[in-house]
Amino acid sequence: MARLTQAQLHQLSHNFEERTPDELLRWAKETFGSRVTAISAMQESGCTMCHMISRLKLDIPVLFVDTGVMFQETLDTRDRLAAEYGLDIRTLHPEKSMEEQTAEQGVLYLTAEGQKVCCHARKVEPLLKQKGEFDCLIGSLRRADGGRRGGCPILAIDVEMNAIRLNPMANFTDEQLESYMAEHQVIKNPLHAQGYSTIGCNRCTTPILPHEPKRAGRWRHLGAMAMYCGINPTDMDDLDAQAIDLPLDLIDRILGVKTDFMI
Ligand code: SF4
Repeated sequence: MARLTQAQLHQLSHNFEERTPDELLRWAKETFGSRVTAISAMQESGCTMCHMISRLKLDIPVLFVDTGVMFQETLDTRDRLAAEYGLDIRTLHPEKSMEEQTAEQGVLYLTAEGQKVCCHARKVEPLLKQKGEFDCLIGSLRRADGGRRGGCPILAIDVEMNAIRLNPMANFTDEQLESYMAEHQVIKNPLHAQGYSTIGCNRCTTPILPHEPKRAGRWRHLGAMAMYCGINPTDMDDLDAQAIDLPLDLIDRILGVKTDFMI
């Protein structure tokens, strides 16, 4: 095993700014083979990424975390994507049902501290159980969504998963997303048409008014205390000092170099 740092990824991530999402998805498949997966919450960007994976016939599985309190529309969207795009969508579940969790710990999502515990147990932990199976997780974060995503890199280190995060749509604008979805008639979570700009658990997501920021409907009851769940490390951490351990030949493939041991 060898160390791969965020600093080593900086230049590659910068060079990738010129590449299209199609090119980046193909790079991921060529570089990581069967050790790459996508992750989607079944929102607009995620559904678009699923369409791209299907259209390019990349045979990349898609992880979906079902917290047990998802909107039915989101579950239906997942099922449509699997059936109509022929995708291998793997649903991950938390250890406890919401009823069990509430009986033991109370209604966690009503306080800022409780929200962190609830999101960790119901979103982050199910994903962490996949640690070791994948070296690359493809997400659909976009800078156009603003907030902490305004500076989201194309490539990032995920220390907890010991993997790379690839966001091939990081620099996809709202106009590009709309135009791709219209051109390809991408399956859309019907909640978007009801005023939900972003969609998470039914306990913590509301529609937004036209003048509100896109993420205003997430944890609205907590005010400015909560904006993200922690499933995407680039939403939470200062990544600069972080590193993961991967086989040396894989790091060489990622960075496009060949380590020479000759002295
Ligand atoms: S979004 Fe709300 S209900 Fe869902 S896991 Fe987080 S705190 Fe719990």
